[in-house]
Amino acid sequence: MNTPFIEPETAVAAEPGLVVCEHCDAVHQRPQLAPGEAADCTTCGALLYRRSRLDRDAMLALTVAALIVFVMANAMPIVTMEAGGVVTQGRLTTMVSAAWNSGIGAVAAIAAATVFLFPLAQLTLYLYVLMARQRQTLPADFALAMHGLRLLRPWSMVEVFLIGVLVSVVKMTSLAMVKPQAGLWAFGVLTILLTALSTFELRELWADDDPPPEPHR
Ligand SMILES: [Zn+2]
Repeated sequence: MNTPFIEPETAVAAEPGLVVCEHCDAVHQRPQLAPGEAADCTTCGALLYRRSRLDRDAMLALTVAALIVFVMANAMPIVTMEAGGVVTQGRLTTMVSAAWNSGIGAVAAIAAATVFLFPLAQLTLYLYVLMARQRQTLPADFALAMHGLRLLRPWSMVEVFLIGVLVSVVKMTSLAMVKPQAGLWAFGVLTILLTALSTFELRELWADDDPPPEPHR
């Protein structure tokens, strides 16, 4: 079956039994896969779909854990700096406002969006769609939440921030006593959790078969 003029999301939303090849737009019947298995497109040979090793319950647990770690990462200091007997605590909020006040408002806005707003929105949407999936009937705005999730995923850049902080800490050690604090470890754990969440195929949330896969209807 080949339907080249249909938006993949539209096709999958209308018929969860379908899966669209992202490379050649061929529409296939969604294969029943075991966790960790993958299916290739029969038209172009590209990877069509890989079923995550994580099931939805594991995803929900990861999402809740990530939200808790997110709060910790933002509430706790990331680093402390001591220079001339003055100790300064660096949190994400203080770093963003310092960047804003130094006249690099664009950097401050990008950091606030990619490290705070987008990850928070992403985790909230994950929580929403995963909890919606646990109920038998999907809410009317499920498709909207899934669209939002798909759009947000590439824009959550906690790992870029983490690398930036680590580089700054190393560079600043010559100027001040810089010590990593709990917030930095929390951002590290958050990066790992967000990476684990990103391995999950969003299209698995469209299908209403729960693992173990078995034919229904
Ligand atoms: Zn293909």
